[in-house]
Amino acid sequence: GELGPEQEGLVIAHYGQQLDVEALEGEHEGEVVRCFVRANIDSLVTGDRVVWRPGKSETGVVVARGERENVLKRPDNFGALKPVAANIDHIILVIAPEPEPHDNLIDRYLVAAENTSIPVVILLNKSDLLTERNRASVEALLGRYSALGYEVVRTSAVQFSGAPSPEVEALVKGKTSAFVGQSGVGKSSIIQTLMPDEAIRVGAVSESTGKGVHTTTTARLFHLPMGGDLIDSPGIREFGLWHMTPQEIEYGFREIREVIGYCKFRNCRHMGDPGCAIDAAVAEGSLSPERRQSFHRILQDMAEQQARGLKGQ
Ligand code: GDP
Ligand code: ZN
Repeated sequence: GELGPEQEGLVIAHYGQQLDVEALEGEHEGEVVRCFVRANIDSLVTGDRVVWRPGKSETGVVVARGERENVLKRPDNFGALKPVAANIDHIILVIAPEPEPHDNLIDRYLVAAENTSIPVVILLNKSDLLTERNRASVEALLGRYSALGYEVVRTSAVQFSGAPSPEVEALVKGKTSAFVGQSGVGKSSIIQTLMPDEAIRVGAVSESTGKGVHTTTTARLFHLPMGGDLIDSPGIREFGLWHMTPQEIEYGFREIREVIGYCKFRNCRHMGDPGCAIDAAVAEGSLSPERRQSFHRILQDMAEQQARGLKGQ
């Protein structure tokens, strides 16, 4: 009976049983309130819209979860997929001329993204490092992805003396973004240009309760000065690098997904089997040899990973 009126909120971080909820309306609008969750609501994650009620001493209670547009999941320690963030408008896959980009790794991220239904944009960072030596191969690689319908944007995080590049600003403005990609491609550098204020970027303390420092490795939502939000965590940056099933891999290659039902044999392994629709697609030009190779490679890597897992290694 001591609870205030129901109101809308946004989960900006979660810590076990507790959440930081930003009030989206009412007298607390803009404040971050530490909330507990009614037992009948299943797992809430960063980015979830909720209905909450203010309680005693600047805490609150979440009483309902809003509909999710999408959810990004990753495996827990036991391999079960668990949601970590919701309502992401796009995944920004960062690549760079250095470390040298490989189709195989890019495709792993794309496969994971395709399986979430969250759109993905490929962002070439460090475009200042394009040289005579690497330009042709990087352009050819980007060309393969734009031919598949992926949006490709080029930028450099070291230009504009710390300010965000116009391309990145246009990309994130008004949207909820998550940056993913291999270590060293410049994710932190780009995020730093978007959020120069260290305090906002690393502040993992509940602003309203100020009780203790709850640092978290789970996803956190930040408002960007240009409008739009960023959802970030070490785990999200590693998105896509965990185990995937053969079905997810097939589905994750958008041009393979179209043809895979047409293999001659139902148990086709797509490894040069007679009547394989994938080989036909390469012959006819709708599938590049690079993507076929990377499809095979990811299937094999995952099968080996699985085998090792079964042996308990
Ligand atoms: P992360 O691991 O993806 O977060 O990558 P970092 O942001 O830590 O960047 C890795 C290295 O690349 C750092 O030494 C950055 O200074 C450098 N770097 C980042 N962006 C650029 C860029 O656009 N151009 C150049 N030349 N170097 C960059
Ligand atoms: Zn086949």
